[in-house]
Formats: sequence, C-alpha cells, structure tokens
Amino acid sequence: MDTKISLVQRGALKKVGSTFVEAFGHTNALLIADGNTLRIGGFATARSLQKAGIEVRQFIFPAHPQPYADEHSIAQVRLSLEMDNSIAVVLGSGTLNDITKRASSELDRPYMVVATAPSVDGYTSYGAAVSIKGFKQTLSCAAPMVVLADTDILCEAPAEMIASGYGDCMAKYTAGMDWILADLLGVQPIRDDVWEMVQKPLRLVYAHHKGIANRQREGIGLLFDALSASGFAMQIMHDSRPASGAEHLISHIWEMEHLSKDGLPVSHGFKVAVGTMAIAHLYEELAMLDVTECYGKPTQSWEERKQAILSFFSNKTVAEEALSVSKAKFLEGKALQARRKALIALLPTLKERISVQLPPSKELRDSLIEVGCPVHPSHINATLEDLKRAVTGAQMIRNRYTVLDLYYELGLFDRALQSLEALSGRVG
Ligand SMILES: [Zn+2]
Repeated sequence: MDTKISLVQRGALKKVGSTFVEAFGHTNALLIADGNTLRIGGFATARSLQKAGIEVRQFIFPAHPQPYADEHSIAQVRLSLEMDNSIAVVLGSGTLNDITKRASSELDRPYMVVATAPSVDGYTSYGAAVSIKGFKQTLSCAAPMVVLADTDILCEAPAEMIASGYGDCMAKYTAGMDWILADLLGVQPIRDDVWEMVQKPLRLVYAHHKGIANRQREGIGLLFDALSASGFAMQIMHDSRPASGAEHLISHIWEMEHLSKDGLPVSHGFKVAVGTMAIAHLYEELAMLDVTECYGKPTQSWEERKQAILSFFSNKTVAEEALSVSKAKFLEGKALQARRKALIALLPTLKERISVQLPPSKELRDSLIEVGCPVHPSHINATLEDLKRAVTGAQMIRNRYTVLDLYYELGLFDRALQSLEALSGRVG
C-alpha cells in the first residue's frame, strides 16, 4: 500500500507538522488549498508545519469558481511543485486531492492529504478522477503517503458533502452484492480480507446514520474511516471492484454527460446514491423472479448490439472503447446457453445471498433521505428516462460483471428497465 500513515482524530490538525516530518523528514512543504479550505484549516496547518521546522510555500486556488480537476489545474500545481523539491500537503476534499495526487504522481513525489470533508472514498484510492480535454477519466497514480483528518473539521463540513460521502459509502452494499454475484459465477473470486475491510465498517456507518445526519463526532468519524477503508481495499486489490459495482457505472455515464443541477455538477456521491437505489431495486426484483421467466427470452445479435452501442455514445473514442469492452463480454450460441444455465442454477443461492447482503430497500432509502441524499433521478435534475438510459449505458462500458450483465444475458434487460418505474421519488 502507498499509504503509510492514517491519522483520524479530534485535534489532528495540530499534528500535521510532526506527521509530515515522520513521513518525509525535514523537507519543504507546498500547502495546496482553495479560498474555502484555507479559511477552515489553512492557518492551523501552516502553523503546525512551521512549528515542526518545515518551510512552507502556498498554492491557493480561488474559492469561486470552485477548482476543477482538469489538465490545467494539474499543470498549475505541478509547476509550483517543480520550483523546488517540496512535498505537497493538500488541504481539501475530492477535487483538490485528485489534482494534487495526479500532479505529485507526474513528478514521482509522495504527498500528504489533510481531509476537510468525509465526502468520497477517493482520498485513499490510487487513481485520480480528472477531466482531460473534457473527458472524465480515472488516471492511475499513487495514493497519498499520509492521510490526516481532524474530526472537528469533518463535523463542520457542508451538509451536502457529508451526505455525498454517505451515498458513496452505501454504494458498497450493491457493489458488494455484485461482487458476490461475480464470485458465485466464478468470474471474480471474493478476497475475504478485502471484503471485511469494506463491508464491516459499512454496516457500522449504516447503523449510525442518525448520528451522521446530526453531525455527531462518532458517526462522522466512522463514515470517514469506512470511506478510507474502501480506498485501502482498492489499493490492495489494485482494482475498484471492492468499492464499486453497477451503481458506480451508472454514475460514470452521468459524469460523462456532465449531469448538473442549478449550474453545479451533481456530486459523485449523489449520483452514486441514486444508482444504488436503482441497483438495490433490481436485486429485489431478482429475488422475486420465478425461474420459469428465465427461459427462452430472445437476445440481441452482435450486429444489433453494435448498433445499439454506436447510437448510444456520441463521442467516437468512448463508443469504440465501449464496443471493444462489450465485444469481449458478448456471449452467443453455446457459450450463452451455458451462462444462462449457470445463472438459472444459481438463482436460489443468489436469492438467499441478496437477503443477507442488502438491507430492505425502503430502509436503505429512508436512511439516505435522512442524511440528505437524493434517492430518485428527479432529485438530481434527471428524469426516469435518463436513469433508464444511464442503466443501459452502464452495462456497455466496463467488463466488471454486475447484475446488469445478469439481466442482459438472461434476455431480461428491458424488463429490468421497465421495473425501475416502481422507484419512488417521494421524499419522507
Ligand atoms: Zn465512489
């Protein structure tokens, strides 16, 4: 793992300096923040570093417009880092962390993040979600060597950022279920230690959702720990499988389409929360599926599939990538028959596992609403048709086996889309 030190506690900001020295020795630091995070913890962070005898330069993005993780921001930070041999200390959440992670990685330097909100699991993951020439992608780069979070600051984070982190955390229920499915099918075995790392803290967070909604220190700390653990799990596996399933693929489609509300991009956790409710619903439908409904459904020919993909993606590069991914997992003839047989044979076991892995969707939904997450496309400026479209695209873009592949291979994909009509948009 890249991350050597993880410190999450009350008053941790005072330990930035000593932790920095422990990790990197007495080298210079470049404090990276924006107008907002500078105000929240900039002074304390710089003071702590100086007290430890570290020379600190600053690189501050404006508060407005919010910094955006693209090639320009990355180049700015990299140029500033290149002025000497400073190690970056980024004070912020998802975006600033991604910019710094990538800039440091391009210079082959380690870095440290001081987290300001429990908003994503990307703090500790090894990739950076950035937009290059307008196209959102996850660029590979090392995870931070040090993660530090002061729970006093996390509790004061904006409500939407806490809710967003809760959404990203609850996604581990459906992501876990997709992994169980892939494991049962022999496509991708579960690694027990990694599974525990993600799934245990997830359940603690779910049990503390009221405390999280009320910004109680314990719940907020548990949320941050659970999100960090997901990142660590991804570092260990060098794969996002432990933390990301079909609900994340739905959010990837919306990210590519720049889904926004009130002029601002919808946060990762919010898109994922809506995706999680959709996938939880599809699993509940599966739990009620009668085995006789799985027989004899027509499937697409490769030519039909190809046309569907080409008409879905307007961007040529994305369409080509989707074509190659989809071709690699496309089954026909005897291979398809064998897969269908395997899926049908698995159905009773799957139903059992669904009832153990997933909380009842109504309860999950209520907890998300209580913390302030959207649960229906209409809450994030999308329609039910947009959701159906995103679910369709989600099944085309990755080779990760999910419940969407199961529906597709059984010839029940249209029926699954239809069933999403039952998702409730009612709040409360
Ligand atoms: Zn996520």
